[in-house]
Amino acid sequence: MISKPDLRSLSFEELKRETEEAGEKSFRATQVYEWLHKKNVADLNEMSNVPAAFKEKLLLKYDLYSMVPIKVLEDSEDGTKKFLFKTIDGNAIESVLMKYEHGYSACISSQVGCKMGCAFCASGIGGKVRDLTSGEMLEQIYEMQKAADVRISNIVVMGTGEPFDNFDNFIRFYEMITDKDGLNISGRNITVSTCGIVDKIRELADKEYALTLAISLHAPNDDLRKTLMPSANRYKIKDIMEACDYFFEKTGRRVTFEYSLMSGVNDSAECARELSELVKGKNCHINLIPVNPVKERDFKRSGNDRIADFKKLLEKNRINVTIRRGMGKNIDAACGQLRRSYMNGEADIGQN
Ligand code: SAH
Repeated sequence: MISKPDLRSLSFEELKRETEEAGEKSFRATQVYEWLHKKNVADLNEMSNVPAAFKEKLLLKYDLYSMVPIKVLEDSEDGTKKFLFKTIDGNAIESVLMKYEHGYSACISSQVGCKMGCAFCASGIGGKVRDLTSGEMLEQIYEMQKAADVRISNIVVMGTGEPFDNFDNFIRFYEMITDKDGLNISGRNITVSTCGIVDKIRELADKEYALTLAISLHAPNDDLRKTLMPSANRYKIKDIMEACDYFFEKTGRRVTFEYSLMSGVNDSAECARELSELVKGKNCHINLIPVNPVKERDFKRSGNDRIADFKKLLEKNRINVTIRRGMGKNIDAACGQLRRSYMNGEADIGQN
């Protein structure tokens, strides 16, 4: 068990306070912050210009929750890299690095496991183990940048976990990654995806961040949605839509609705019509995701014709719609699949 909080989750202001309390000069805070967030050290001993006594004081109160890459899979076609990281307490989490024309995009996890239990998703199979700290969310990005020797410019919080079930840590992560003393990534280049936790959507809206909000909708009505997502029993589509309108009102940012197409489940023409009615007139965008079949689940990908028809029906209703480009098809890039095979002892961890 980990008993102490994560040093890398401290904001610069908080680190400055720690520095003062330890009786150190304020420039030491800048030094330590740089080691943690620019040079990405895994161990305080590596902070060569920081006095040992100060490091010892920090270690009495804090741990460094570093992430160790234990496996990297690369898709030889599109260059997508999937990382399996080991956490300080021996858990495994996944992150993905994707190359686009305009730069590199990272998909990170927000929790170890997930308690939302969506019927088509591999991440929720074993339930939630724990929340990731803000520092651990940052670490996924730092470590991927280091390992691949690239600069990440886009982030999607769409890996394992429900970010709004770990809201405070997500907010702290957002503040730190967009901070000028951190990676200084623009909020416009960050997307957070939620299964639709209404009160948190509103709380996020009140922050007026310039980020993109993505909602996992997957069904145009509550009855069907309940068969796919247990969270639909608690949060009605109507309330989610109202919260999204509020988000748009506060931020002026267009909301994305994710809709995973599952053959014979939610891909009928009737579903497309119902979905059109639901979002008609809203300033939003629909992202159709051909479902990624998961070995433990029984859902099949809709055929290409069905997908194209579904898209056409939405377009006829003048709805903004795209089909998500499948990245990393050759490396099991669907959420949670690599972690599951690792936990089941199936992944070949010895080789990269
Ligand atoms: N918990 C958050 C974020 C993680 S999942 C959420 O629910 O939005 C990221 C997206 O991938 C969600 O839209 C999720 O529903 C979708 N997803 C999960 N498993 C999938 C699968 N096997 N095929 C296609 N999409 C999947």
